[in-house]
Amino acid sequence: MAGQIIGYTVLAAFALFVVILVTRALLLKKPQKEDSDYKPRDIDAGAVAEKLAGAVRIRTVTLPDNDSDGSVFYEYQAYLEKTFPLIASVAEKTIVNKYAVIYKVKGTDDSLLPAAILAHQDVVPADPEGWECDPFGGEIRSGYVYGRGSQDMKSQMIAALEGLEILLKEGKVLRRTLLFCFGHDEELRGTYGAYEISKHLESLGVRLEYVIDEGGTILDGKLLGIDNKIALIGTCEKGYADYILEVAKDGGHASAPTPRTAVGMLAEAIYKVEKHKMRPFWTKPTKEMFAALAPYMNFGFKLALANRDILSPLMKPLLCVVSPFTNCLMRTTLAPTQAEGASTPNTLPGVARGTINARINTGESVESVQAHIQKVVGKKVRITTLEGSIDPSPVSDTSSEAYAKLKKTIGEVFSGYIVAPYPFIAASDAKHYYNLTDNVYRFTPFEKSVEDANRIHGLNERQDIAMLAQGTQFFLRLYENTCL
Ligand SMILES: [Zn+2]
Repeated sequence: MAGQIIGYTVLAAFALFVVILVTRALLLKKPQKEDSDYKPRDIDAGAVAEKLAGAVRIRTVTLPDNDSDGSVFYEYQAYLEKTFPLIASVAEKTIVNKYAVIYKVKGTDDSLLPAAILAHQDVVPADPEGWECDPFGGEIRSGYVYGRGSQDMKSQMIAALEGLEILLKEGKVLRRTLLFCFGHDEELRGTYGAYEISKHLESLGVRLEYVIDEGGTILDGKLLGIDNKIALIGTCEKGYADYILEVAKDGGHASAPTPRTAVGMLAEAIYKVEKHKMRPFWTKPTKEMFAALAPYMNFGFKLALANRDILSPLMKPLLCVVSPFTNCLMRTTLAPTQAEGASTPNTLPGVARGTINARINTGESVESVQAHIQKVVGKKVRITTLEGSIDPSPVSDTSSEAYAKLKKTIGEVFSGYIVAPYPFIAASDAKHYYNLTDNVYRFTPFEKSVEDANRIHGLNERQDIAMLAQGTQFFLRLYENTCL
């Protein structure tokens, strides 16, 4: 009898628990749609494509250092000024650190902080081998502009300028000052361009209302159980570090090997790093992302996310295996990328070296990740970091008016898409601007197929012309919503 009572009690408690979980999921409601008077402009997509094609034809490959001849960047800037004559006629131009440039279009209302639109002028190199056309030919065919930089990121620069050029042609006058900040070494690290621009602006006492750079993306929501497209705004960047693992051991002839060898010990260390992955945890941007997306998810996902506080111990490991994307969101990733021993096959090397490339999650640091690796591999392995390692960026504010306006603009131009913040897992120039504002956002306003996205830095990079026009609508509307 007593056993039966206990059984019923446990059953009732479990039923209540399930009811609570389900109720919390059902309470997740989609936010109300905002009123909007948005009407897309008639944009001459062919003309914008020609402008982009012309930009692609100028070979602004990232310089190895700032002392190399960068006159091609002056040629590129002259091209922009010729192509956007109304902007050129009102903008004040400042060259920073030789090849970076700021075009300042002054607004009429000094009480409004300026907004900064970022883009990088430089592109990664392109070997013509394997291309269907000249990578710097700016060819237009079957609805695309082909060439290096057509996506990354001359398309965004051209769309951003075209949006303002159209408004100026309509006789509109900006109330808020706009700063177009174009670095010239994003593909290196942004330290000669973006970093110097932000330092320059800081030295002038400039504070910014917001910064927009490349980074966020439009995705098919299926990956996360959403039957819609999702537009993601990057609110932070993961950190980056290359750790060199070094094992020293007596070298010699391979015919008489020591019981343990440098290569064997290095292999063991790398195996341990792979095996002992870094712990998954919730960061502010991942929490914010899932909170924004949860109301649109299928019931299973919704149930899990509404009860994240209770189900977290199950969800964290699950998200790490669901997909590489969710894995990256949840933890610092460690990828072994290089290994090196002797230069000849019959020698025991005195030193074996390997590289671990880390993308560091918000809340961790270059130093704390190094400590983790050291603990995992033991003291016999020496660890150093390569130059260029950088901690994760701060996290941008999503409660600001600037964020709300950006979200509204995306919702208007990409009608019906769900907008959410997210942690950007690659790198951009934007990280250098937190000294000027908390409202640093990354968004690339072009829908693209996965296949086209994979062409970035690769063969046959191309920009869809219809999407280029859509991206122009985005910038135009952003200026209407925030600068007029
Ligand atoms: Zn880029």
